[in-house]
Amino acid sequence: MQKRRYISVILPLKLEWLPCYWTDEDIEVGDRVTVSFAGKEYTGVVARTDAVPDIAEEKIRKVGRVERDMERILGTEIELWQKVADYYLCSVGEVYKAAYPSGKINLEQARAEARRKVCLNRKKTLDAIVLKLEKLNERLEKKTLQAEKAKDGTKIKAKCLEDIEKIKTEITIGEVAKEAAARSLKAAENGIAACYDSVSIPVNLSSAQQKAFDGVMNGFLSAKPVLLHGVTGAGKTEIYIKLAIEALEQNRNVVYLVPEIALSRQLEERLHQHFGERLLVFHSAESLASRRNTAEVIRNMTADKGGYIVLCTRSGLFLPHHDLGLIIVDEEHDSSYKQDSPAPRYNGRDTALILSSLHRDCNVILGSATPSLEEIYNTSVGRHILVELKERFHGSEDSEIEIIDTKAEWKKNGMVGNFSRKLIDHIKETLKNEGQVLILRSRRAWSSVLQCNDCGEILKCPHCNVSMSYHKVTDQIVCHYCGHKAAYSGRCTKCDGQLAYLGSGTQKIEEETAILFPEARIARLDSDSAQNKSYESKVIKDFTNGEIDILIGTQIIAKGFDFSKLSLVAIIAADTILGIQDFRADEKALQLMEQLRGRCGRRGTRGKFIIQTCQPDHPIYRQLTTPSDICSGNLMMERRNFDFPPYTRIIEITVKDIFEDRVERMSARLSETLNSKLMMKSSVTPPYRPVVDKIADQHIMKIRLSFKKDRELASNKDLLKRLIVSFEKENRYDGHIIIDVDPS
Ligand code: ADP
Ligand code: ZN
Repeated sequence: MQKRRYISVILPLKLEWLPCYWTDEDIEVGDRVTVSFAGKEYTGVVARTDAVPDIAEEKIRKVGRVERDMERILGTEIELWQKVADYYLCSVGEVYKAAYPSGKINLEQARAEARRKVCLNRKKTLDAIVLKLEKLNERLEKKTLQAEKAKDGTKIKAKCLEDIEKIKTEITIGEVAKEAAARSLKAAENGIAACYDSVSIPVNLSSAQQKAFDGVMNGFLSAKPVLLHGVTGAGKTEIYIKLAIEALEQNRNVVYLVPEIALSRQLEERLHQHFGERLLVFHSAESLASRRNTAEVIRNMTADKGGYIVLCTRSGLFLPHHDLGLIIVDEEHDSSYKQDSPAPRYNGRDTALILSSLHRDCNVILGSATPSLEEIYNTSVGRHILVELKERFHGSEDSEIEIIDTKAEWKKNGMVGNFSRKLIDHIKETLKNEGQVLILRSRRAWSSVLQCNDCGEILKCPHCNVSMSYHKVTDQIVCHYCGHKAAYSGRCTKCDGQLAYLGSGTQKIEEETAILFPEARIARLDSDSAQNKSYESKVIKDFTNGEIDILIGTQIIAKGFDFSKLSLVAIIAADTILGIQDFRADEKALQLMEQLRGRCGRRGTRGKFIIQTCQPDHPIYRQLTTPSDICSGNLMMERRNFDFPPYTRIIEITVKDIFEDRVERMSARLSETLNSKLMMKSSVTPPYRPVVDKIADQHIMKIRLSFKKDRELASNKDLLKRLIVSFEKENRYDGHIIIDVDPS
């Protein structure tokens, strides 16, 4: 019999230590094993094969089963989990669970799906190339007309002729690519497996883009991450694509990270033109089988097969990556990169930086039109390199801003429902000129508040301390925090009085829009409508193709989309995006408005950006017309004066409990403990109530800690975690204490 070997195992649990088991089988780090723990079976990952037991040997249990047909976890994966756990103060097991969500998978079904996907992918590639060719032909036509009009011998004429030659070359290459794509689609339909030799369409950068590209490559030479700060419509995507092509040519793999799924859908098409089936897409809305299949492809994709580029949301960072040469973090500033719940509460941008450090010579490019203060800080201290791209590809100017004072308009009888007459006129004008309109309203539903006409009571969720929203589409009242739903009676629960609607949401705006502009084709996009993913992609596609005139939505519609005919963007009741109780509120509101403003007028025409607000004098609106470096300079000074990030690191502790008195007592005791036991260089607030202090029957209190960013930071964080663990133990506390590092 072979000798007993002791191994330590990562289990998908919130466990601060790695339990030890023994086995007499051959086993390696990364192997999957099923073991029993606290009376239950779990499949874990072998972290060490040379563990030294710290309890009596006879108490150590034997491994239940070595899972030979499950994938072996790579060393870099485990290393990433460990680093993420250390940084975000959670357990390695929690990261493992996020990376490998369990669930039985039907392998046969997964394979069938994979085959279907290959066909679908190749079809998409072909479609994308056809689309690109159409666009090129359109441009050729335009340029030819322009050339005909231009006088002989002028600079303009010469430029036109030069462009025409370039476009013709692109068309020739495109035609070859189209044939190759058609061939490979046929092959897939006939059941022939992968062929990675598809021709990709090259990228032609403008001179401004080329300069930025060179700047980025130069930055990479210093082995530091590069921040590409480029206005919306500058053509950052094109630069990313070229960087990715270079990396693949060097036999290195590429990760293209986006903050949200909606964004990946529009990008997917664009990337398909260049990468064909080397492009993989990964996000949490896909089925488990499909995600597992993508992971398999990545695991087996060696350099000689051409390498991969994976377009993904943050969870794609935990794929079994190898030979990574480039990570692209698109819309770096976006707060959707942060996972709020459950643990690991990680930020995709920062985790991408950790991931790159685990791969030899792996470059990182972070891009944004409105960089986060964290990134601006990083470039200012020389940790990251800044490259700027200030010119828009199609050369249009910044949109014109108009602020409409809704209070004043009310007095002048200038409002029709939620729309000012001024805005209505602008929309009419835009539609007349065949432009498109985007309307942002940051509240979904039909009405976000219901108030009794008789007693003034606001209808609240029975489980949360928030008002119920009325959804007209389903004729229900819904809690946007816990999801509680009920039929709508229209009567006050206290006095049976008539309820009145306050706070119009997107559904109401949609209804008003349809009445005001009966001829227009209208659609709405918010998290209610986006529940249906195919509906969501259809709306984005239709809006891109000009088949929708007015799109109404919440913040979802402000993300990096490229809509060519969009010429008017309006915010209804902008006051609700200004926010409260958050030091990042101004930064976020400003980013949102800048992003929206950049969405319109992208093809050489100047767009219009209208803000309806009842606080027209709010200082934030002035910032919109201030140069961005001065703005961020001001914000940065504020952060420094108040000891906020990026000058400090903030950790937020949330205590949740079903008993209100206990949450108060425990959070007070915890705050005191931390205050007395943590080092000098941190500050601990007394417990405070968040704006919504009860969700799903749990009462909530928060404590905020801020740490100096110095050499002791890591050990201070570590101490914090230990203090909380022992606090829970000593008090036998069975409520929830949640640690959130860098809360968004
Ligand atoms: P950003 O990501 O910086 O907001 P995009 O990459 O979406 O900008 O580019 C804006 C538009 O300009 C897109 O429609 C894109 O197709 C076009 N574009 C940018 N660069 C080029 C290029 N080099 N050749 C052709 N079209 C380009
Ligand atoms: Zn609720």
